Amino acid sequence: MVAHQIRARGVRDERVLAAMQTVPRHLFVPASHRDAAYEDEPLPIGAGQTISQPYIVAAMTEALSLTGAERVLEVGAGSGYQAAILSRVAREVIAVESQTELIEPARRHLAELGYINARIEQGDGSAGWPEAAPYDAILVAAAAPAIPPPLIEQLADGGRLVIPVGSSEQQDLLRIQKTRGRTVQQSVCACRFVPLLGRYGWPDTGKPRPA
Ligand code: SAH
Repeated sequence: MVAHQIRARGVRDERVLAAMQTVPRHLFVPASHRDAAYEDEPLPIGAGQTISQPYIVAAMTEALSLTGAERVLEVGAGSGYQAAILSRVAREVIAVESQTELIEPARRHLAELGYINARIEQGDGSAGWPEAAPYDAILVAAAAPAIPPPLIEQLADGGRLVIPVGSSEQQDLLRIQKTRGRTVQQSVCACRFVPLLGRYGWPDTGKPRPA
């Protein structure tokens, strides 16, 4: 997986590659899809949600430019896999998930692996997680219609935000760096994520989500 899907496509950060090598992705995938855990694709994790494709997990983590000293916020914890990867390359990870049924399994997976520097909180992460702000890095694992202003506010000076922004069909993965109150934005790649719902995301209609 690491050699063919991730290194070959240009991820160069050795710490990210080592984390992708270390974290057992199959433990975060439901038993019914375990055979496909290391394939080049997103997989269902329940509640209409998906665990992102390995390459995109690696590319987003690399885009945060982590050294190991950072406090990181993840929005959209899902299975906990991205949080597990972040926990290997940062000091502390707070991952927010809105869907209650995903919380307990995600917490269990992280605990089983002994990744005690990552914790999952329940709530609407479209407004960030102000209780523990500021963050050196913020990763949003769901597609937003626009950059939620609270996420910029909760970035520390020099902090990086990686977030897919666009329509529900297609997004641009953006990297935003905040320096002395100003932001500089660059586009990393095109991508497709499940929608970020909530106050600064798409309205939650309660209807089945688009595939
Ligand atoms: N990073 C996850 C996959 C993310 S899928 C993993 O590694 O498995 C996107 C997740 O974002 C879903 O679990 C969805 O429930 C969650 N989500 C959507 N809107 C949210 C919001 N406003 N706050 C927190 N989580 C949200």
